[in-house]
Amino acid sequence: MATHKLLMLPGDGIGPEVMGQVETIVSWFGKQGLASFEIEKGLVGGSAYDAHKQAISEGDMKLAQQADAVLFGAVGGPKWADVPYQHRPEAGLLRLRKDLGLFANLRPAICYPALASASSLKPEVVEGLDILIVRELTGGVYFGEPKEIVTLEDGSKRGVDTQLYTTPEIDRICRVAFELARTRRNKVSSAEKHKQTVTALHAKDYADVELEHVLADNCAMQLVRWPKQYDVIVTDNLFGDILSDVAAMLTGSLGMLPSASLGAEDPATGKRKALYEPVHGSAPDIAGKGLANPIAMIGSFAMALRYSFGAIEAADRLEGAIADVLGSGTRTKDIAAPGANAVSTSEMGQAIVKALEARG
Ligand code: NAD
Repeated sequence: MATHKLLMLPGDGIGPEVMGQVETIVSWFGKQGLASFEIEKGLVGGSAYDAHKQAISEGDMKLAQQADAVLFGAVGGPKWADVPYQHRPEAGLLRLRKDLGLFANLRPAICYPALASASSLKPEVVEGLDILIVRELTGGVYFGEPKEIVTLEDGSKRGVDTQLYTTPEIDRICRVAFELARTRRNKVSSAEKHKQTVTALHAKDYADVELEHVLADNCAMQLVRWPKQYDVIVTDNLFGDILSDVAAMLTGSLGMLPSASLGAEDPATGKRKALYEPVHGSAPDIAGKGLANPIAMIGSFAMALRYSFGAIEAADRLEGAIADVLGSGTRTKDIAAPGANAVSTSEMGQAIVKALEARG
């Protein structure tokens, strides 16, 4: 059995609490002999600043480069509001994304049947929803040059942001989307304003996958009208920022949303650099109270099993266990009906381990 190298960076606030539940699950998989992990731990964000005066140390960056996958909790909090800009907690995450070349952001939006009524949309619109947004993460308007604010002769100012993509950048993100679609329902919806490069790549290498083009603004509308029409949506950095948040809200709570960021495939090993993290932040308002929902973090580990370790059965089993627990009515406070009983972070983790065991 292959041993997978996993680097855990719990971070700040609720990060360590939710990561603790993943540790329980990782050791369960280890004990069952279903997968074997070599685990390192490091600091990121405010906790790294407290220890090293930077948002991630060189030593931890090296561990991240060597890992098969990085599991990231969350960073930030009021304690670090005044640290120098270059050392602010998010700088640790941005450095990881940049140095590991994580250009593909995968954001699944899955609506567990038991939570359909928690969505702000009608249950029939979201129940059973399972879509995947593939967002380009290292290009586009957030990085394009020129990016500047200049003062004009009359004293007014002119701001410039540049939307810029090269064909190799478009090709590589679309390849990720087409490959993933082949493992799902085999359909890619490309949400964009220009479709030349995507169409050419599709004709050349992915004609077996259904491809449709949808204008990004229409895609936002369709996502709240009838999201189940989609399987994989591929989109750029700016549109992806917006569309993935729209899709997130279809499923209920921030505490439920996992994500993955992948880099290029290493031609020698076939492996990609990868970082897995919940979509939520460090939630300082509930940190240390045992109230955090660990499902987004545990779901992120399930994505690591699927996309970095090729452990598809283990990933299915873990996602199935989460669905079982939700089906049994177990809820943390963020997803419980008002006034209903809620379990703590660790009780939710333990319930998922029990459900894993019950799945045999
Ligand atoms: P947040 O996601 O931390 O919290 C928003 C709300 O959702 C809060 O009410 C919080 O209690 C709730 N929430 C979030 N995760 C939850 C969970 N797992 N279970 C139950 N409830 C949960 O966003 P914010 O309040 O805007 O930001 C707080 C801090 O986190 C800030 O310092 C921000 O910069 C940082 N942040 C970090 C990341 C990251 O690390 N990737 C992402 C977003 C925000």
